[in-house]
Amino acid sequence: MSKSDLSCSFCGRPKPETQLLIAGLDAHICDRCINQAHGIVQEETNTEDVHESDIIELKPPKEIKTFLDQYIIGQESSKRVLSVAVYNHYKRLILQNSKEKVEIQKSNILVVGPTGTGKTLLAQTIARLLKVPLAIVDATVLTEAGYVGEDVESILSRLLQAADYDVNLAQKGIVFIDEIDKIARKSDNPSITRDVSGEGVQQALLKLLEGTTVNVPPKGGRKHPDQKFIEVDTSNILFIAGGAFDGIERYINKRLNLQAIGYKTTLDQNKIDKDNILQYITPRDVRSFGLIPEIIGRLPVLTFMESLDKSTLLEILKTPKNALTKQYTHLFEMDGINLQFTTGALNFIVEKAMHYNLGARGLRSLCEAVLNDAMFELPNSDVKELKITKQYADQKLSKIELPKLKIVS
Ligand code: ADP
Repeated sequence: MSKSDLSCSFCGRPKPETQLLIAGLDAHICDRCINQAHGIVQEETNTEDVHESDIIELKPPKEIKTFLDQYIIGQESSKRVLSVAVYNHYKRLILQNSKEKVEIQKSNILVVGPTGTGKTLLAQTIARLLKVPLAIVDATVLTEAGYVGEDVESILSRLLQAADYDVNLAQKGIVFIDEIDKIARKSDNPSITRDVSGEGVQQALLKLLEGTTVNVPPKGGRKHPDQKFIEVDTSNILFIAGGAFDGIERYINKRLNLQAIGYKTTLDQNKIDKDNILQYITPRDVRSFGLIPEIIGRLPVLTFMESLDKSTLLEILKTPKNALTKQYTHLFEMDGINLQFTTGALNFIVEKAMHYNLGARGLRSLCEAVLNDAMFELPNSDVKELKITKQYADQKLSKIELPKLKIVS
């Protein structure tokens, strides 16, 4: 074969039509194909640098709040505060990637309020909106390293699991630490009855909240010498801590009274809404309750949840996007049954939840108890309509011992 018979193995051009033809082992490539291939390589490597999980969709606070409104009834103040905190948190991430030199502090959040008022729901809804992974952990199972229980790093194992082991995604996720109040110091006076283990866990949490790189055993649990670790940077993880802080009203009241007799009267005593004292909470009260100042400093956004009254509970039953009544109606619809609740029945369920102090969590268990027989009997029967009246609900609930009702959250 003469040299002029050679051609490019990619585009087929004969050698005389090319400027350059480079020979490989048993193929040739022309200058044009080299240029084209180079373009493709550049394009591919550029897009590879941006992982899908690197992209953050920044939503303005009002949009965040509107989304929260669909799932969470009431809690206006918390929803507003959280919307802004979440917005700032993700703005901070964007600034970090740019050349701006302004460092914005992390906006980890502390939510104080009675159980069953929607603290976890808030964290879940935000994670759902932002499409980021969420880990829910209970502070009471955490222990200092070396003690029986879970190390604080186990929090990150959970987050990795929730992110399907996509480290990039996990590093932008949300961690909800429930019952943070249970690791508070047990006394006002730190020098007398120090609750060492609780404070130890608080200390262990500090670095995680602030931002550090942690070697996480991927499957969680105890560290094992042979286990490969995954490195997780916590600086962009949003931490939301929640707790009931039972009795914190005492410290708020005390502080408000002191303020009233001091020089700096910031609040008019007559204007204080004594039934809803939690709204006046400040970091100082959380400190008096027993969280160490360093932890409080790393949870700079403080907000409170209101207790749920009768009308709010009724709304919770009816209005959220995934309201219980909507869920059950849908379930029955799938069997071709038209399910309806009378207002009397809904009021009755709410009254029972309030009477037995079951709160919003109890609503689900109560509905389950009211509807269980029907859900068992009606599929495949001739019944195509079911109207839940107060009498119907009363009859079904009278068969069970309400205080022993297992709460389904
Ligand atoms: P907390 O974390 O404060 O103990 P949760 O968020 O776990 O409470 O609430 C338990 C359940 O009660 C939620 O899954 C939800 O169904 C319902 N719930 C509580 N508060 C609200 C609310 N404000 N709006 C709508 N549903 C609520």
